[in-house]
Amino acid sequence: MLRNDQLEQWDRDNFFHPSTHLAEFARGNVPQRVVTGGSGCHIEDRDGNRLLDAFAGLYCVNVGYGRSDIADAIADQAKELAYYHSYVGHGTEASITLAKMVLDRAPDHMSKVYFGLSGSDANETNIKLVWYFNNILGRPEKKKIISRWRGYHGSGLMTGSLTGLELFHKKFDLPLTQVIHTEAPYYFRRPDLDMTEEQFTAHCAAELEALIEREGADTIAAFIGEPVLGTGGIVPPPAGYWQAIQAVLDKHDILLIADEVVTGFGRLGTMFGSDHFGMRPDIITIAKGLTSAYAPLSGSIVSDKVWKVLEQGTDENGPIGHGWTYSAHPIGAAAGVANLKLIDELDLVTKAGDVGGYLNKTMSEALSDHTHVGEVRGEGMLCAVEFVKDRDSRTFYDAADKIGPQIAAALLEQSNIIARAMPQGDILGFAPPFCLTKQEADGIVAATKRAVTSVL
Ligand code: PLP
Repeated sequence: MLRNDQLEQWDRDNFFHPSTHLAEFARGNVPQRVVTGGSGCHIEDRDGNRLLDAFAGLYCVNVGYGRSDIADAIADQAKELAYYHSYVGHGTEASITLAKMVLDRAPDHMSKVYFGLSGSDANETNIKLVWYFNNILGRPEKKKIISRWRGYHGSGLMTGSLTGLELFHKKFDLPLTQVIHTEAPYYFRRPDLDMTEEQFTAHCAAELEALIEREGADTIAAFIGEPVLGTGGIVPPPAGYWQAIQAVLDKHDILLIADEVVTGFGRLGTMFGSDHFGMRPDIITIAKGLTSAYAPLSGSIVSDKVWKVLEQGTDENGPIGHGWTYSAHPIGAAAGVANLKLIDELDLVTKAGDVGGYLNKTMSEALSDHTHVGEVRGEGMLCAVEFVKDRDSRTFYDAADKIGPQIAAALLEQSNIIARAMPQGDILGFAPPFCLTKQEADGIVAATKRAVTSVL
């Protein structure tokens, strides 16, 4: 086995880490952690630490770590057939079975699933499909995509543009011209404090409608949104939001893409966030929870309405010119099948709703009165604590204050618990695996209170 100092040196010399301050890393100022194992909600590192991962990796290890049933399914598939492509009608038992399992769980009006590898590439696929859809329907001008400020849809060229967080745009010259951003459904930061949730919903819908009218509905193809904003700060929408948005989109014949990379397969206590909020999307993006991250796999689930036009398109133009070498990779598909079976067997969707509700309730009871806690919010197994400089005057911290990172570091140091300092800098996020127990939730809450009190 390599010595730790050797491994750390190789890491610094060779490894380009994503989402990392590269210069600070090179200077040795970013803590390095070599993760070696995991079981349930915990991971272990080479220094012998056992940490409770209250963010499930990047909200993706939904069934928890160390599930040998999924590992065995992957190993069996790799031994039998590690790879074959899925072009021109090819498939494997795993990919065909997984497609059926996904459709069995998706809303009734969905028709087919295309498999990719990551949430980002699935959203790239979605935008191409939407453009193709409008070209086939003879509407070549109807191409712009609306997303929300604080939305996160990936970090590719198009998906990075859809993402409404400045960090992901800065200095990258993304092709933002095809993308328009509208207001985030962020009730805590509503423009007028006297607004009720319903009034704020009406305001968001009116803002969207005004944007559509300004740009021209005949130039707008689709609206993309996460049922609950994730990376943008874990923000559940205000009451009635999705119904109001859907009504505006229907009126202007604009497709809805529900980005369920985080919410798909149970995180909100329902199979999809679309079920939870009564959305009727034309396309659903799936990734993380599809395999619980045991292997990379994502998907674009398309509705009957979209599928019919795609079929018509190929009659007119020949085979669809889109696909990855690794689309529907058999190992990912085998992981997906085993993962979805496990979610059913252990009733993890119900558990995510129950224990997630408990986590949110107890976190709120423990922290809502703290002078520097502006809001505790969440839905299902997603929970966020937002910190403010001053509650009464609603003075917010700057990202440079690094309050979220400081509290996340304290939580880790004091209690061996991993939470995520969300990129805004003033929000601490929790998205544990669905196997979290109420006792573990109590531990997270008590430790968070201790960490908050020690920093603020
Ligand atoms: N969409 C949402 C809602 C996400 O949260 C993410 C990643 O966190 C993505 C898309 C991008 O997925 P990936 O990182 O697998 O490309």
